[in-house]
Amino acid sequence: MTRRMKRVVVSSGLHEADIRPPALMSEFKRLSIQDAADFFADPASLVEVDCPACDSAEREAVFRKQEFLYNRCEECGSVYVSPRPAEATLAEYYANSRASRFRVEHFSRDTAKARRYHLLRSHANWMGQIVDETGNPDARAYADLSTHSPQIFDEIHALEFFSPLYSVSPLVPVTESEAPVTATTLDALSGIGAVSAFEKIEHQFSPFDFLREASGVLAGGGILFFTTRSVTGFDLQVLWDKTPYIFIPEHINLLSIEGMTRLVERCGLELVELSTPGQLDVELVLHAVRQDPSIKLSAFVDYLLHHRDPLAHADFQEFLQKHRLSSHVRVAARKPKE
Ligand SMILES: [Zn+2]
Repeated sequence: MTRRMKRVVVSSGLHEADIRPPALMSEFKRLSIQDAADFFADPASLVEVDCPACDSAEREAVFRKQEFLYNRCEECGSVYVSPRPAEATLAEYYANSRASRFRVEHFSRDTAKARRYHLLRSHANWMGQIVDETGNPDARAYADLSTHSPQIFDEIHALEFFSPLYSVSPLVPVTESEAPVTATTLDALSGIGAVSAFEKIEHQFSPFDFLREASGVLAGGGILFFTTRSVTGFDLQVLWDKTPYIFIPEHINLLSIEGMTRLVERCGLELVELSTPGQLDVELVLHAVRQDPSIKLSAFVDYLLHHRDPLAHADFQEFLQKHRLSSHVRVAARKPKE
């Protein structure tokens, strides 16, 4: 862990309902679960894997969801699905499932405004600042992988810092952005200054292969940015197998903070930032227990949530951010200069 590594505290008045409206979310989840049953029905097509973060084979089974087994790595504490659908089956699912289409047609578009204000602008500023501080000054091209919010390019373009802009295998047409952005494939790129992958790691067959390939297009000193969900975050630790927004195949890798650090190192990258600026853990737990009376909280969490005021909750959320105990993680990692 580098000494200069950042820990970030953020508050923008973000609410879960702004970026994941309950009606859209429940429809997306319903379709995902149905599609998963159709696409991944054949047990013979499932593949055993070792820890996607640290590669250790040591694991214990912790819970099941939709017939899939979640395991906890005994080495790094990451939680992951094994056996899991083979890589080609997952690709087929993301290309052709109703859930994927629903995500593109409703989710990304209907929440674009809230996402843009709360998330995309802060992502753009974050990436610009890190590249400016620690990136390669001669590499200013930017690429986003499997773009589902083309408005990220409007925010990036407004910085007047990155150029040219690429969208690798976009899920939503990049013509929905007003910025000059080129849709392309990963193998067409090289010498890139910054590559981003927002909420992709959790559903990759192999996060290691995914990050290796993504970092392959970076210039020396270029920065790889990603966001994902961590199992060491407060809401997941408290809700565990009852977490209502964890499902197959969206979340087959729920890496721990320790596991993510190992993963970045295994990929030959230098960690610049690993922070958890999530704003929603407390709100998500409160919401989940309201919806599902079978969730039993520990005495302390129950007391904190139900007998303390919004100020205590806000302070507690800030504590989670500061100590990297929120489940929303963002990572910046640099490719070493040759
Ligand atoms: Zn592990």
